[in-house]
Amino acid sequence: MRIGHGYDVHRLVADRPLILGGVDISWERGLLGHSDADVLTHAVMDALLGAAGLWDIGHAFPDDDPAYAGADSLVLLDRVMEMLRSRGYRVGNVDATVLAQRPKLAPYIPQMRANLAARMGVDPDRVNVKATTEEGLGFTGAGEGMAAHAVALLEER
Ligand code: MG
Repeated sequence: MRIGHGYDVHRLVADRPLILGGVDISWERGLLGHSDADVLTHAVMDALLGAAGLWDIGHAFPDDDPAYAGADSLVLLDRVMEMLRSRGYRVGNVDATVLAQRPKLAPYIPQMRANLAARMGVDPDRVNVKATTEEGLGFTGAGEGMAAHAVALLEER
């Protein structure tokens, strides 16, 4: 077994979609980034790559590469899974936390889990997603951005 950790941050701005775990959440602002800026999926990918000793998503998918402009992060997760499978790994489980002051994310979490689990080829009960505020503190509390943490366990086939 191998474990990995991922952490990511994106800035919140007007006129961008808010996509978390592949769920398009209708809200007044969204996350800024080269891809779709899905901060949750990015943290999960970094945890998976970290567990496999494969550096990080910045190296797997450079943000100055036009191929990834506006990229669907779930498709990037498919690519990460191809990298893991080719090296003989499967996902044991993933646990992740999104840090966001608003909006309330609880209604969207089952779909986030289902999306991520499907792409990783595991049951949704192996993909836990939590959301918390930071009590109005810091950049997430001020609504300047969102962050996500993830840990992943990989098993060798
Ligand atoms: Mg990112």
